[in-house]
Amino acid sequence: MKALVFHKPSDVRVEDVPDPRIEEPTDAIVRVTATAICGSDLHIYNGFFPQVRPMVLGHEFMGIVEETGPLVTKLRKGDRVIVPFPIACGRCFFCQAELPVHCEQSNPKHYGPEGGVIESKGAALFGYTDLYGGYDGGQAELVRVPYADFGPRKVPEGLTDEQVLFATDVLPTGWTAIEWAELKGGETVAVFGCGPIGLATMKCAWLRGAGRVIGVDREEYRLKKAREVARAETLQLDKVDVVEAIRSMTHGRGADVCVDAVGMEAHRTVLEKAANVLHGQVGTISALKLAFSAVRRGGVVPVVGVYGVSYDNFPLGQFFDKGLRMRAGQAPAHNFVDPILKHIQEGHLRADDIITHRLPLSRAPHGYEIFNKKLEDCVKVVLTP
Ligand code: NAD
Ligand code: ZN
Ligand code: ZN
Repeated sequence: MKALVFHKPSDVRVEDVPDPRIEEPTDAIVRVTATAICGSDLHIYNGFFPQVRPMVLGHEFMGIVEETGPLVTKLRKGDRVIVPFPIACGRCFFCQAELPVHCEQSNPKHYGPEGGVIESKGAALFGYTDLYGGYDGGQAELVRVPYADFGPRKVPEGLTDEQVLFATDVLPTGWTAIEWAELKGGETVAVFGCGPIGLATMKCAWLRGAGRVIGVDREEYRLKKAREVARAETLQLDKVDVVEAIRSMTHGRGADVCVDAVGMEAHRTVLEKAANVLHGQVGTISALKLAFSAVRRGGVVPVVGVYGVSYDNFPLGQFFDKGLRMRAGQAPAHNFVDPILKHIQEGHLRADDIITHRLPLSRAPHGYEIFNKKLEDCVKVVLTP
């Protein structure tokens, strides 16, 4: 089959690779009909997460069940499914506690209680490096889906691929940020990062009762998208003092909620790049620091942007003095897929309007390049095998 294979940073190719096959009785094989490139894929593409051997990438995908293992009871050949991006068994302590991203079964080689360091990760993710389980991903014609009775959801009748594809990651991740914010209604929610995840967060904020939504980014075309598809007020980094602007919009206090939907690959100054080398750090927490400054005292900072290592300039004193709450992590997508599909079906939520590029899988390398370099006003690339 054809698949998008990561070789080394900035080097991804569409190649012939062996078809996946059923390896465990609980596996299914899915023939992919649509898949997308995510900001998380860029962390591998840009070398922020190490991957030595070639690997098929992709954790946002959907398709038709081609084959099922003998213990799969909920799916049959021909079912049309979406598959949440974390790989979780559904039966272990953490899966039972609705924490599928901490599944104890799916990532036996690198799972551990410590977290953060190289040898101690959480649950496996599709197509997301050996550290995250080493499973091939869905930017391919076929993909092996472990624990097929737990992750995949059948697509409700009458919905197109583009309507439901983002229920695999983008929408559940935005949903998670707002879930963590525990909105009561009427809050001002500022979202740092107007990529797919930021846009989904804004949409979920409105859905869950926010009173005001502010999008922050460096790229004007992404702010435009935030105004168009998420009805956000927008602030452009480097053009205005974002923190001061948010305070002046909120009686000098700051936003009730500031979401970090950027992560470690925020733009770095030359000084920060030098400090990275000096301190053995990867990327920057500059977006998180903005969020800490722009949030009001007693406010919440949900962090869905990805961070990989320790950072020694973490503003703990400010966090303490302002009495903030922070939640962070991979989104427990399994928990939110069903309500999200229902909202899509009922017309309360959509994310297909974030798509800017539709390409055949064969052009995936071009998709990575324009998404990474923010060329052609790229916000979200959907690939069809
Ligand atoms: P993206 O790269 O398209 O979006 C990031 C946006 O942040 C860009 O528009 C960029 O211009 C902007 N940005 C850069 N520096 C900024 C700053 N200092 N302040 C404000 N904006 C800034 O990626 P995406 O697909 O939207 O993903 C965003 C983040 O979410 C990534 O780190 C990704 O890995 C992560 N993610 C996390 C989960 C999860 O489960 N927690 C799931 C999916 C994606
Ligand atoms: Zn993703
Ligand atoms: Zn589990």
